[in-house]
Amino acid sequence: MTTATKKLGKKKRFFLAYPYCCFCGGSEPSTTIDHVPPKACFPDGYWPEEFEFPACETCNQDSRRDDQLTGFYTQLLDFNESNRTPQDAAKMTKLRDAIVRNYPDALPDTSTSVPIHQVGSIITPSPIAVSVRRPAAFAQTMETLQRKLTHALYYREVGKPLTKSHAYLSEHYQIQGSDHTLTTFLGALLPDETIGTRTNIKNYGERFGYKSGYKDKEDFLIYGAQFGKGLIVWGMVLGPGMSVSNLADYLRSKPWRWAGYREKMPCPRETIQANQAAA
Ligand SMILES: [Zn+2]
Repeated sequence: MTTATKKLGKKKRFFLAYPYCCFCGGSEPSTTIDHVPPKACFPDGYWPEEFEFPACETCNQDSRRDDQLTGFYTQLLDFNESNRTPQDAAKMTKLRDAIVRNYPDALPDTSTSVPIHQVGSIITPSPIAVSVRRPAAFAQTMETLQRKLTHALYYREVGKPLTKSHAYLSEHYQIQGSDHTLTTFLGALLPDETIGTRTNIKNYGERFGYKSGYKDKEDFLIYGAQFGKGLIVWGMVLGPGMSVSNLADYLRSKPWRWAGYREKMPCPRETIQANQAAA
């Protein structure tokens, strides 16, 4: 059997098992295999093996630019030293070169960089970091990542595509220290942990993992996903009978009772704005 035939065979089996696109409502036939998180988020050969999803041509093509940018941004924001291998550096160089060629506006504008001399109330004599303004493409890229990750993780956990009668909310933020309130909150809230792995690479590292919880009765899913020690994307899916207006009551009800969560959980957007203002 040639490699091409083997590939075709594997794909055919995949489309038979997963006949519909899981990103646009579950009625379009699947003709492509999409990786979520995108392969671009990992050094070549390091992407987790079990995160392949059925997609129609349109859904797969529509996110091509954002898949590449997601890879660049998530690795740029990851401050985990153990994810700075020569393979990581090679991948970043490759991504950067491709972005310079194709989407130069999506690179951070280093001409606006500002040195940071403060940690909390402590002023440091030499800068501890450099703040760079986020390119406009960042917000759009994160929206695509949030949308795709929510659809993919729902499909992976629940075993059926999200439909148009579901509603979902999703956000992202950058971890600002090990005891970030929202991260701690999500960690305590979500029961099941899944870490991306590869069978043929011993040390996959802390590159991608998520926690999730699901309630059958209401068809409710909540998750928090983490890229290295940098970006966190979290979201929730509301079943067809649920509404956003009673969500707070629902979240307070069993089994996710968490006293005082309203006070403890900052809105991610506010956190990001506050961090930008502080920088
Ligand atoms: Zn689709």
